[in-house]
Amino acid sequence: FITVEGVNKHFGSHHVLRDVSTQFNAGEVTVILGASGSGKSTLLRMLNRLETHDSGRIVVDGIEVSDDARQLERLRAEVGMVFQQFNLFPHLTVLENVALAPRRVRKLDRAAAETRAKELIDRVGLAAHMHKHPFQLSGGQQQRVAIARSLAMQPKVMLFDEPTSALDPEMVKEVLDVMKGLAASGMTMLVVTHEMGFAREVADRVLFIDQGRIAADAPPAQFFGAQDNERIRAFLGRIL
Ligand code: ATP
Ligand code: MG
Repeated sequence: FITVEGVNKHFGSHHVLRDVSTQFNAGEVTVILGASGSGKSTLLRMLNRLETHDSGRIVVDGIEVSDDARQLERLRAEVGMVFQQFNLFPHLTVLENVALAPRRVRKLDRAAAETRAKELIDRVGLAAHMHKHPFQLSGGQQQRVAIARSLAMQPKVMLFDEPTSALDPEMVKEVLDVMKGLAASGMTMLVVTHEMGFAREVADRVLFIDQGRIAADAPPAQFFGAQDNERIRAFLGRIL
């Protein structure tokens, strides 16, 4: 579904991604692990062109990732992204936050956009909070709104960049539970996270990035049993 072929990325003289090649299949959940600065966010951001690549090719659902405006519009419609910071519109209610993009971008009328938004808000467990503003919600609730908002565009793949890292510990589970539900529904997901429980339980595959290279690519059971790889052992030793 997503093909990454010989991709390199530099920031100035810093070679951040080195000859990265891999594929992500439809319906697969991939957890991306690696030390701080290893290039995880850069890799995710390149998939929806929030970041350019210097060389190589990236193709998402047949769409070549490039600056071509038409392709870019299709790409952005297919790829949803959720960040560590929720980035909700503070002056809009939960319902308005979720209904906005379908109205603006998909040109749905208000009633259709709100009907769909309500279903999604219900799906992330926030039906009772629909008319509140973001500041009236906890971090975990805000992140669930951000997920619903992203889903409202009916993406084919969802990218998550440390979606629970800014949350108080007691709110992590409610967000991971929504993500688990999404995985169970067959969504193609790429998830950068330090939540090893999620990786073990939900991931089909773990990618380990080390200094801009894919250093391991294996099912979780195999990855977490890879005690022979010194760098994986060191990484897991630091975070577990
Ligand atoms: P973390 O776990 O801390 O989020 P990461 O694996 O997501 O790290 P990236 O954010 O992809 O790492 O960054 C990889 C490297 O590229 C880092 O050394 C970072 O400082 C550098 N970098 C990222 N974005 C930029 C930028 N816009 N300009 C210059 N350097 C950048
Ligand atoms: Mg990052």
